[in-house]
Amino acid sequence: MADPMAHNELPQKKKLYIETVGCQMNMLDSELVVAKLRNEGYELTLDIGQADTILYNTCSVRQHAEDKIYSALGRIKTIKQQKPEVSIGVLGCMAQKDQGQILKRAPHVDIVVGPGQLGRVSELLAKAKEDRAPQMAVSLARTGGSRDHVTESFAEYDPLREPAMRPTPHQAFVRIMMGCDKFCTYCIVPSVRGPEQSRPPDGIVEEARQLAEQGVKEITLLGQTVNSYKFKTPDGRTTRLSDLLERLHDIPGLVRIKFITSFPNDMTDDLLQAVRDLPKMSRYLHVPAQSGCDEILKRMKRLYTVALYDDMMARIHETIPGVAVSSDFIVGFCGETEKSFEKSIRLVERSRFKNSFIFKYSPRTGTKADDLYADDIPEGVKKRRNNDLLAVQNAICAEDNRPFVGRTVEILVEGPSKTAQRHASEGFGPIQMTGRTSCDRIVVYEGNARQAGELLPVTITEATPMTLFGEVMTTALVGIGA
Ligand code: SF4
Repeated sequence: MADPMAHNELPQKKKLYIETVGCQMNMLDSELVVAKLRNEGYELTLDIGQADTILYNTCSVRQHAEDKIYSALGRIKTIKQQKPEVSIGVLGCMAQKDQGQILKRAPHVDIVVGPGQLGRVSELLAKAKEDRAPQMAVSLARTGGSRDHVTESFAEYDPLREPAMRPTPHQAFVRIMMGCDKFCTYCIVPSVRGPEQSRPPDGIVEEARQLAEQGVKEITLLGQTVNSYKFKTPDGRTTRLSDLLERLHDIPGLVRIKFITSFPNDMTDDLLQAVRDLPKMSRYLHVPAQSGCDEILKRMKRLYTVALYDDMMARIHETIPGVAVSSDFIVGFCGETEKSFEKSIRLVERSRFKNSFIFKYSPRTGTKADDLYADDIPEGVKKRRNNDLLAVQNAICAEDNRPFVGRTVEILVEGPSKTAQRHASEGFGPIQMTGRTSCDRIVVYEGNARQAGELLPVTITEATPMTLFGEVMTTALVGIGA
């Protein structure tokens, strides 16, 4: 006899597995792709073996990230052989850069979609099935500043956001710009992400308002050179990043606002004043220096000198008390002598960054540096310089974290630490929670999971180079430090 309930059953949802490599911009792209696919009947799975659709959102900034994707594609070939109905997609920067190469190396891939075309993922998945042929959607090759070839993805995304894809339920990324016009010689981003485009401010404010209504407490505004943000309305008025921050600051429910990544030349005084004057602003700036040597900066085409960077650091510290600045460095760039490397060490020493992300140079096909210069620094030397610069930075982290001991800081609680999640599931009492100060220092304390998303006063009892440890104050908060 037929099951009388059978015709009432809901249609089975399609299962989507997604892996993301790379920067925050990619994490946000994945969140937006997932949001759109969920609206079309997909649900997320963490089990790749259960998935009907497997997507890789990729990065092409370093060779290692690309190798990782090609080996993942190799591993899932057997899934496709056993279940040919499974759809496989390569999205993002590597899709834009390698295009048809991906289909040659991994013919079991169904869709290849560049970052400017992510709004079309579901349409392409359907077309690949219908035509029984792989589909590719990438932006045209960039020939230097033309704007007509890049699909503007902002408008194509559904504004509904996907909470499960966020860093935590209380934190969200909001893209305010796409692309980049700086063309640093080592960087593939301008050719894969297209020209710099600022998003209209009304859409950004509306999205942030929706996120706040969903319980988000902290938003991080994203752009390759986020402080270059400028939107001109048809009546000729310009919204700068500082103006946008003022509007976002008025949104009820938000308690903290950050922006990354900044470009040194565009660190204007009005922006620094906004960070100082708006209480919800995180007193934290990420401004990559990349090198402390003018000749290397020139080879990198970074468009500033070390003197300009020093001047910017001085203005930051004069304007914003208690601010923390972090930086990026590339070591072993083409032609980097010991003397030029030492200049990077000196810059780290005098800038006293909160932390530095240090990378060994690796040439990327399609970049100017790869065309113009020999990758002439041996791998061993790059490695040693990386370790040396890291050691200098770590010593600074240790020295600058130490004075926090005994001070009370306000943190935005992010959630239980990984160890804490395990202990909680095993039925232990209080657990280790983590949060961040306004100046982005990580604080670990003993608390409970319900505190996630709250602003809490914590007295620091111990400091390591990367982490502060503390106890929650139960009495009124006095003298919050940054
Ligand atoms: S500023 Fe330079 S390093 Fe940053 S995204 Fe643009 S080209 Fe790449």
